[in-house]
Amino acid sequence: MRIVFLGPPGAGKGTQSRHLVNYLGVPHISTGEMLRAEVRAGTPIGQQISDDMRGGRLVPDELIIELTNRRLSQSDCDSGFLLDGYPRTPDQAQALQEFLSGSNLSLDATLELRVPGEELLRRLVARAESEGRTDDTPEVIRGRLNEYSRRTEPLVDFYGQLELHYPIDGIGSPEEVFGRITNIIDRLQQHRNNGRP
Ligand code: AMP
Repeated sequence: MRIVFLGPPGAGKGTQSRHLVNYLGVPHISTGEMLRAEVRAGTPIGQQISDDMRGGRLVPDELIIELTNRRLSQSDCDSGFLLDGYPRTPDQAQALQEFLSGSNLSLDATLELRVPGEELLRRLVARAESEGRTDDTPEVIRGRLNEYSRRTEPLVDFYGQLELHYPIDGIGSPEEVFGRITNIIDRLQQHRNNGRP
């Protein structure tokens, strides 16, 4: 299956993605992890984006589109993928549609983890403290949440119009939330199997 996982920082997307890729048997494509690896390795791309990443700002569309297209072209993605953290802007979503349709492929679903803003802020501040993320000041965290509402939330409508969109309540234990996700995935898989001749 080809799935896009949407949700603001702090919604629990990282944890749920790790469970979901095991469940689906597809690679986990986390653009945040790919970019952090570039910064750690000190590559030219890493040097170009490190300020944006530290400030909680999105990196330029052209750069992330090229990096992700290259990753999705690798053979382990033939069986499907879970995209975590991509697309994050309308231009990225458009680029993904074009990339897939160029290979006669399409997405199966976009899942959106929903958690209210004040709960996200509380979780992110607590995480920054417990993990010693000194770069994650409340100001940077607020900036990251604003980037999400301003630039990524419009994708909910975009995918809604394509009838691909499934919102999920992100409040509850990780097991409860995962149960909601697998309910949707199981229904989609059943639907797909029934559709076969
Ligand atoms: P994440 O781990 O998904 O929260 O991503 C960490 C950081 O990487 C973000 O705050 C952005 O600076 C950058 N990033 C990750 N994915 C994207 C994307 N699709 N578009 C632009 N910037 C991204």
